[in-house]
Amino acid sequence: MTKYFSSRLKGISPYVAGEQPQDKSYIKLNTNESPFPPAKGVTQAAKEQAGKLNLYSDPTCLPLKRAAADLYGLQAENVLCGNGSDEVLFFTFLAFCSESKGMACPDVSYGFYPVLCSLLNIPYIPVPLTADFTINVQDYAAINANVCIANPNAQTGVYLPLCRVEELVRQNADRLVVVDEAYIDFGGDSAVKLINKYGNLIVVQTMSKSRSLAGGRVGFAFADKNLICDLEAVRNSFNPYNVNRMSMFAAEQSLKDKDYFLYCTKNIMQTRQFTTEQLRKLGFTVLPSMANFVLAKTDAMGGRQLYLKLKQRGILVRHLNDDRIKDFVRITIGSAEQMAVFIETLKDILKETV
Ligand SMILES: *Cc1c(COP(=O)(O)O)cnc(C)c1O
Repeated sequence: MTKYFSSRLKGISPYVAGEQPQDKSYIKLNTNESPFPPAKGVTQAAKEQAGKLNLYSDPTCLPLKRAAADLYGLQAENVLCGNGSDEVLFFTFLAFCSESKGMACPDVSYGFYPVLCSLLNIPYIPVPLTADFTINVQDYAAINANVCIANPNAQTGVYLPLCRVEELVRQNADRLVVVDEAYIDFGGDSAVKLINKYGNLIVVQTMSKSRSLAGGRVGFAFADKNLICDLEAVRNSFNPYNVNRMSMFAAEQSLKDKDYFLYCTKNIMQTRQFTTEQLRKLGFTVLPSMANFVLAKTDAMGGRQLYLKLKQRGILVRHLNDDRIKDFVRITIGSAEQMAVFIETLKDILKETV
């Protein structure tokens, strides 16, 4: 850090993103992207807009907001669009937390939550998951802070039923509950249907996982329109053109293509089932996942060792150096073909180590 770096920021601990190697082609099962490319109409929409990049994008995002609202029978006023849901989370933490209003999150969850807290000088309050990696809603009852959970949870894939999420929202109307639903389209039940009932609920979603647009960077907040107004005030104080022109049109097309979405998400769920069964046959412990990844461990070797052995053989998975899950690796569910190769490779690795 230079002497010019703001003293306000000297405590930050930046997020470390999963590898995106550019040197050789791996089977990439490490950052929870979709193995399916965007649908044809989506790519076409982006191409058409490429010729208009001399013009700013629509700062109201209205057509995209409408397309997102339509998914749940809501109004455009209930939606905020962001440059990825990471930006939506940033706006949310900035708008509703402070040095005296912290954020409580599960101790094992998305690594960005503590990072945002450190960037924004917000007290970060980790709340331990139970021994089987579930969120116990009662543990949040006495905490005087906003709450942010991922559901299904990041890193684990474990899903909290909607009635439990509602309990969490109902518990304390004086605090905000943020439900990050990056993985909700892989079998979970969305809390978006609760936003008309509760003025303290923000549901965050992304097009990066279930909608094959990780590189497009588009995410949403769904909430009561008063909360969206607050978030819009923050967005317009930062960058009114936060969603670029190509991504905005691509995302709108993608939201309207229901058949392709259903084809992709169904396929991922079936392949998740296959992968889980195969891993268990090989003696792995696999957490029950409602996401597009599984967290798994074997007694044969540690998480980091398995990650390295797979990498040597051209397969990237994610190893997280978090105490509670360091024996595990996180495996993104790729295509059926990729997962078949993954399982065969695992068999070779296990044979070699006995
Ligand atoms: C991937 C992920 C995000 C980030 O999504 P982007 O829209 O790509 O920024 C947010 N939250 C969780 C839990 C995620 O896993």
